[in-house]
Amino acid sequence: MTLSLERGVPFSRLTTIGTGGPARALARPRTVPELEEALRLARGEAMDVFVVGLGSNVVAADEGVDALVVRLEGELAVVEARDSLLEAGGGASNAACLHRARAAGLGGFEFACAIPGTAGGGVFMNAGAYGRDWSDVLVRALVVTADGESWMTPAELGLAYRHSELTAEQVVARVEYRLEPRPEAEIRALVADLVERRKDTQPTNRRTFGSVFKNPPGELGAGRMIELCGLKGHRIGGAVISPRHANFIENADGATSADCLALMAEARRRVREQFGVELEREVVFVGGVELP
Ligand SMILES: Cc1cc2nc3c(=O)[nH]c(=O)nc-3n(C[C@H](O)[C@H](O)[C@H](O)COP(=O)(O)OP(=O)(O)OC[C@H]3O[C@@H](n4cnc5c(N)ncnc54)[C@H](O)[C@@H]3O)c2cc1C
Repeated sequence: MTLSLERGVPFSRLTTIGTGGPARALARPRTVPELEEALRLARGEAMDVFVVGLGSNVVAADEGVDALVVRLEGELAVVEARDSLLEAGGGASNAACLHRARAAGLGGFEFACAIPGTAGGGVFMNAGAYGRDWSDVLVRALVVTADGESWMTPAELGLAYRHSELTAEQVVARVEYRLEPRPEAEIRALVADLVERRKDTQPTNRRTFGSVFKNPPGELGAGRMIELCGLKGHRIGGAVISPRHANFIENADGATSADCLALMAEARRRVREQFGVELEREVVFVGGVELP
């Protein structure tokens, strides 16, 4: 075993919301063989696996998570441009990908400028904004399991609205994005415009986990419905429904995951009563977390 494991690292340090208890073990593989080794170790010890990117769409149990948590680093977080392809490790941040693409004069990834995740998290969630998502730019992803590795296309990954068919044991180790030539200045201007639009409508300098619920079909988004239920600014413990956008929960002051879940349950109940709509969560739960 060349890979060392850290014990008891709290999820509050691994997630953007800053809540959650200790992980049983954390591995930081830097290469595909190290990643395979971690996955085989988990299988050998009958441990669940949970890959964490930037933890920007995750709520973890306050009691802790009985799993091997995997975070991709080193080679598995490197980004390179080759012709019109951007090749990135699954652990590469979207910011690093965008930076590399811009330096290479490649456009098409600007939509991800305000999505604070990684390449692998983007594939798993089929993340998106401004009418585009991962399926628009992804050529293929290298998916690693304890049994080996294979390249998968967006169709094979089953990418749909904030959804993929990936399971927890399938880790995206590398991705290839197809981009298009675009002058650096144009990319900068587009990103600046998108970031400004974001600042006007969403909390950008608060601890959150991004969108709480998926937008249901129809004209009213989840945030608007929660707002019409009068829940903007509603607080439970240290968590508050964002006064800026009601589909965000902010860690206002020492929030726990239980506080966030209680707010989610309240929002879901009120929307069901007022609109007859059952909101479906977008955020990922780990560690036996359930909505009360
Ligand atoms: C302020 C803010 C704004 C946001 N805005 C948007 C937005 O506009 N659009 C949007 O879609 N999302 C948005 N999000 C949510 C989040 O950033 C995205 O879902 C993002 O793609 C998650 O990436 P991550 O690397 O942080 O994954 P995590 O949150 O760490 O994990 C999410 C899921 O992906 C899995 N996963 C992570 N890495 C891998 C991997 N390498 N292989 C396989 N599975 C993996 C995890 O196991 C988990 O199930 C926002 C979040 C915040 C905090």
